[in-house]
Amino acid sequence: MFVFSLLSVILLCALNQSCGQFQRKNEDCFCGLKGNIEDCECEVDTLDDFNNVKIYPRLRSLLVKDYFRYFKVNLKKKCPFWEDDSKCSMRYCSVQSCQKDDVPIGIKGEVKKEEFFGPFLSESGSMCRNVKKPISSCVPNQCQCQNVGHTTVPKENECGRSNNLDYLNTTLSAKIVKDMELWTAHDYAQENFCIIDENDDESEYVDLLLNPERYTGYKGKSAERVWKSIYTENCFQARSWEKPSIFKLDNMCLEERVFYRTISGLHASINIHLCANYLLSDPNKPSLIQPTGEWGMNLEEFERRFLPSSTNGQGLNWLRNLYFLYLVELRAIEKAAPLLEREAFYTGNEKEDWDTKMAVNDLLKVIKQFPSHFDESVMFMGGTDKKNLKREFRDHFRNVSRIMDCVGCDKCKLWGKLQTQGLGTALKILFSIENGKVENFKLQRNEIVSLLNAFGRLSNSIYKLDDFREMQKK
Ligand SMILES: Cc1cc2nc3c(=O)[nH]c(=O)nc-3n(C[C@H](O)[C@H](O)[C@H](O)COP(=O)(O)OP(=O)(O)OC[C@H]3O[C@@H](n4cnc5c(N)ncnc54)[C@H](O)[C@@H]3O)c2cc1C
Repeated sequence: MFVFSLLSVILLCALNQSCGQFQRKNEDCFCGLKGNIEDCECEVDTLDDFNNVKIYPRLRSLLVKDYFRYFKVNLKKKCPFWEDDSKCSMRYCSVQSCQKDDVPIGIKGEVKKEEFFGPFLSESGSMCRNVKKPISSCVPNQCQCQNVGHTTVPKENECGRSNNLDYLNTTLSAKIVKDMELWTAHDYAQENFCIIDENDDESEYVDLLLNPERYTGYKGKSAERVWKSIYTENCFQARSWEKPSIFKLDNMCLEERVFYRTISGLHASINIHLCANYLLSDPNKPSLIQPTGEWGMNLEEFERRFLPSSTNGQGLNWLRNLYFLYLVELRAIEKAAPLLEREAFYTGNEKEDWDTKMAVNDLLKVIKQFPSHFDESVMFMGGTDKKNLKREFRDHFRNVSRIMDCVGCDKCKLWGKLQTQGLGTALKILFSIENGKVENFKLQRNEIVSLLNAFGRLSNSIYKLDDFREMQKK
């Protein structure tokens, strides 16, 4: 009898591949993470394949290029909402800024005033090498170009007046040029969904490869307060939320839902990264073999944060929000493709710039082939109410970017700022470019860097999610 029972159990286990899996309830696994990603025409499985096979490997090699690895950020700004509370003192929270000489000259863009208006290198071609748009007034092969700062512009005497927006009339005084730059910056800032601190005096370049996003030990009251403020203080007026975990998506209009889901997706992505790159060794016992600690995937931590059984059934929704956010940023990159295709990715190293350009073009080609892009055109449609909603949406998002100055751990603040700026850039692209008209639309270098890096983080999260699911099966 005993032998018979044992054989039945072995047979049942074999049929279910593993005993663990057989005994596992839906509450204790990620099996429910499949099917449609609400508010989009896309399935989780489709996105897993698309990301893990086509996007992730491309971004991995693109984001180590010089143009994308240096991010200019102000980590010293004071929190505008409350007195700074405790700072994370763990060494994993600190950020190593770049020395001035580490940053490629082309990225620093240090052009002295005399050089700005001075004699320029010239070259021939129907399109100036680094110019941001084709110059219609240039006759092919007869146009001479000159370098001005980051860009190359047609020489006025040879090409006639060009309608290129980047063209600098050298007869203007330096003062007027500076004022014009400020006015333009102000106009663009009105459209911005986040606060960009690239031009602050206190901003510094940070090498993202030397300061990877990973577990820092930042938690407790400060972290809780930041997340709570992002969710509760930035909700659209009429609602009051008790707890982030019980947001009722059914009661929200599409725009509110999109806002909540993008924040929740970002939160999920940050938490996946800290689980995927976790400090496995004891921080109080540095080993001689691994003085900087042993880092790796922590399945237990991941399960605590996302399993339905340990999150009141919410974990899978948060992961779905990650997929949703991925689709939002994917669509923004597709929409910005005409701009990105014209970008020179200038660092001052011709070979590196060319390789970066080719890698971006290759990525854009794959992104354009994706069949089920997020459709932003259904948002903010209708009368004045919807117009107000768009303004409210933007103001709330700007607030989220301000809250990032309240994060009490520099490493978390760096990546939090980069990812909110990337998302802000995506939203600006989605809701400011109308009918595909990009002529008057401009992206600053930091916006491009944050957009691609933020998307890279989401791509990495989806990839790691697959690894965690495999780990759990085993
Ligand atoms: C901007 C920012 C960046 C950070 N970066 C890092 C980092 O790089 N490395 C690091 O180690 N730590 C980082 N942290 C801290 C980390 O996110 C957690 O706050 C911390 O680990 C404590 O986790 P917790 O379990 O208390 O829950 P938290 O993640 O703090 O979540 C608080 C509550 O929000 C709800 N919730 C959780 N996830 C979601 C979601 N996806 N959607 C909706 N609701 C949710 C749950 O009810 C949860 O109890 C960062 C925090 C912030 C605010």
